[in-house]
Amino acid sequence: MVFCSMVNEHLDPSGDNFSNTDKEVERKLRPLSFDDFTGQEAVLENLKIFVEAAKMRDEAMDHVLLHGPPGLGKTTLSHIIANELGVGIKITSGPVLDKPSDLAGLLTNLEEYLYSAMEDFKIDIMIDSGPSARSVQISLNQFTLIGATTRSGLLTAPLRARFGINARLDYYDVELLSTIVVRSTEILGVNTAYEACIRIASRSRGTPRIANALLRRVRDFAMVKGDGNIDIAIAEYGLNALNVDSKGLDEMDNKILSVLIDNFSGGPVGLNTLSTALGEQAETIEEVYEPYLIKEGYLQRTPRGRMVTERAYSHLGKNRVDKGTSGTLF
Ligand code: ADP
Repeated sequence: MVFCSMVNEHLDPSGDNFSNTDKEVERKLRPLSFDDFTGQEAVLENLKIFVEAAKMRDEAMDHVLLHGPPGLGKTTLSHIIANELGVGIKITSGPVLDKPSDLAGLLTNLEEYLYSAMEDFKIDIMIDSGPSARSVQISLNQFTLIGATTRSGLLTAPLRARFGINARLDYYDVELLSTIVVRSTEILGVNTAYEACIRIASRSRGTPRIANALLRRVRDFAMVKGDGNIDIAIAEYGLNALNVDSKGLDEMDNKILSVLIDNFSGGPVGLNTLSTALGEQAETIEEVYEPYLIKEGYLQRTPRGRMVTERAYSHLGKNRVDKGTSGTLF
């Protein structure tokens, strides 16, 4: 049995807006085996070995921690691991945490149980209270816990250490994403020009979930505005209508950069101030948007706060106001 525990699943911006039909299509597009899964080669090579070895020993595979930004394939890989092991999977999801104290409570209560469950496949529970209180030990069937999280930094060191396998998923390059888009067009049975697949892939923030979501929306434009086939012109039209710019940054990415430049002279500014100015949760900015903006060189995290780079100014066609000279009296 594999347990997949999702922490911070609610942070996924594209996931929240999914209609039921989209969810169904999404399920169809989800790779089911290692062979179907594109990219993340180093992670995949290791996982294949661990799955194979666990099967040879007829044991539960060691616990796995998958981390990285949303939409890169953590849930997909969890399903694949269970499929490849030939065992069932139960998915649970971490509760939405509103306050830091929720997190402290959750971790202290849960961790005690998790440690012995993960190490010895046993849990001790207290029954009754007062003089008749006693502890009962329950043996569990062997299982593999797969933790999927956007925030591995929040796990305590002892908990992290109990995952024998620790893998970070990274953003995909355009070539890999194009392969994923081509595969999706084949599953959806929509006739798509290869260059349109590349265009969609290059505007997807390195994220398969976004690539698939953009493909579905472009398919809608193709059906309503065209003949149902996706050529480069309809792909371009759809992507522009969806406010995805030529560098693949979406509305929120651009808003973050604009607010930093217009309201805070490019920074540095603290995350909480930025969050208030944007009306967006600090953790969503930190985990969903920033990693890509940093990777692409638009933003920097400095000890004094967030700062935009030259690249952000030129991308938005804005001029840097030199803080040293502005306002100087002669
Ligand atoms: P996460 O759990 O990291 O948020 P998911 O596993 O839910 O991401 O992936 C989102 C969607 O992207 C999946 O439904 C799947 O269709 C697609 N996807 C993710 N990774 C890949 C991949 N490597 N190859 C093909 N499709 C992928």
